[in-house]
Amino acid sequence: MTTPRPLPTPADLAIPPDIDACRPLCACGAVPVFPLVGMHGDGLTHRVVPWPVVADAGVLSVTWVVAAGRRFWCPVCGTTVRVAHAGLRCGALYGSAVIAALLHLVAAVPFGQGRDDGHAHHLVHGRPLPASERARSGSPRWSSLRCWLRELARLWPALALPSGDSRTRLHALLAAFGLGAPLREVLDAAVSAHARGGPAM
Ligand SMILES: [Zn+2]
Repeated sequence: MTTPRPLPTPADLAIPPDIDACRPLCACGAVPVFPLVGMHGDGLTHRVVPWPVVADAGVLSVTWVVAAGRRFWCPVCGTTVRVAHAGLRCGALYGSAVIAALLHLVAAVPFGQGRDDGHAHHLVHGRPLPASERARSGSPRWSSLRCWLRELARLWPALALPSGDSRTRLHALLAAFGLGAPLREVLDAAVSAHARGGPAM
């Protein structure tokens, strides 16, 4: 019963996720059933985040967008949580959608586009990597990309990814999203896989 989730557009992100579709259950285990099943809405949140946009020709750009989210509270234990659109993470600037796009960008052909880390950094920040962010060989090395590769199981808990070195895990991740598929389809698959892991908190 998984519903495919196309990559939201920046305009989609400006509208809060549907309150009933994203309403979480509280970690305390309480399941209040009256007047609502699950946690209660407690207002909106807004954040500025980097987001992948794919042009008709398949070219990736990263734009900074305002993303609306929702806050919920538990009437039993008082816990509050935030929920964002699929493809975002409430506790981190970079959501799984932009991470998938950047990992695809730097992964070797045919898994990805074979661009270097400096290209990925420039796409997001509009400036080159700092001189300190270089491998011993002198090639650009954006440490965030390595950090995300260590977090794949947390970003996409619904995917059973193999253990192994970062290259193995990266290739398995991108293969799960459609090896050789157009970037737009890869990102649709990445957002759908993220959504299967539960609400984006
Ligand atoms: Zn609770």
